[in-house]
Amino acid sequence: MQDIADLYQAVILDHNRRPRNFEEMENPDRLAVGDNPVCGDHYTVFLKMAGDRIEKVSFSGAGCAISKDSASVMTSMLKGKTLEEAKALYNDFHTMVTTGEVAEDNLSDLSAFAGVYQFPARIKCATLSWHAALNAAADPDTKSVTTE
Ligand code: ZN
Repeated sequence: MQDIADLYQAVILDHNRRPRNFEEMENPDRLAVGDNPVCGDHYTVFLKMAGDRIEKVSFSGAGCAISKDSASVMTSMLKGKTLEEAKALYNDFHTMVTTGEVAEDNLSDLSAFAGVYQFPARIKCATLSWHAALNAAADPDTKSVTTE
């Protein structure tokens, strides 16, 4: 069992100090608010779509280090992906944070979250922004998602 401090050490990367795409988007095609009431994580994810391709993605809001870091890594990885590619990436990520198994070697920065599976309460923190982004990308009527 890893110490929670080690997880934070691993997860608080550059992304937490300098989060990527951390800004409200003007005139987004889609947006969804993601809420994790257990931890208090609250983010809005903004998307610009080109057909089924995610052309631009950004986020705003606040929450714990894991949720913020995860949202930052997510935005840097989803840019340019089709919805299907984004879903496949999320499946690998979800497997990793729930089992610790790194399914693909193209997970790059996402592999920093492999230790999350040891802290089940943190899984929702790590996946919150993904739920918001993928639901908004799949359905323009999605306006909010919650982990509860
Ligand atoms: Zn959290």
